[in-house]
Amino acid sequence: MPLGIFGGTFDPVHLGHLRLAEEAADSLGLAGVCWIPAGQPTHRAQDAKLPRVTAADRLAMVRLATAGNPRFTVDAGEVEAAVPSYTVPTLERLRAGPAGTRPRVLLVGADAFAGMPGWHRWEELFTLAHIAVAHRPGFPIDAASLPPALAAHYRERRAESPALLAESPAGRIVTFAMTQLAVSATQIRALLANGRSPRYLLPDSVIAYIRSRHLYTPSPEPSAP
Ligand code: ATP
Repeated sequence: MPLGIFGGTFDPVHLGHLRLAEEAADSLGLAGVCWIPAGQPTHRAQDAKLPRVTAADRLAMVRLATAGNPRFTVDAGEVEAAVPSYTVPTLERLRAGPAGTRPRVLLVGADAFAGMPGWHRWEELFTLAHIAVAHRPGFPIDAASLPPALAAHYRERRAESPALLAESPAGRIVTFAMTQLAVSATQIRALLANGRSPRYLLPDSVIAYIRSRHLYTPSPEPSAP
């Protein structure tokens, strides 16, 4: 059975992520889903008014959120490396490890998929993993609305049946429907920054962690350099 790979910033992890991974495991017939929090996201400007949420905090929140689900594992490799994460080198690291040639399926939301041509060495992705694209509110998945280079891959590699994912180690693209949840980490950070409740958008254990560490709330005084 193929293994799902789910990378993200998870700043913080929320129910959209959890349902994506759970529904992917069911509909794509995955052996499990390996969550890989990014080390240092390069693309995300830090809001100067908010305290910095460390990679270690994001990793801890993913561990809390996924605890108790036997299909989920967490890979801390990118956080421990403490350097910017790029998906292709991450997949190469997995290929070099145990069970290197097993089929792997990179799980992405429709917004992340459309942005793939901006990723470092993006076309090598197709030699390292299959891609499974989850529908996300506001982000249609169709060749006409994708960047042309990605649309060409989409047309060529699209597989209608997830059963095909088990037949080769990499190179196919599938889409899958998931419960549509218009939740985002951006929305949760904004709620917390404004003193509003994020309850029912992310697990209670993660909210308790955020509260205990005073994450995502404006600091009363400038933080030390
Ligand atoms: P932010 O709002 O900070 O950009 P995010 O909520 O999009 O964050 P990420 O950690 O950037 O979360 O996303 C990791 C992966 O999860 C991406 O592939 C993204 O498309 C997907 N994803 C996040 N939220 C959803 C959702 N509500 N539905 C479907 N996919 C989602």
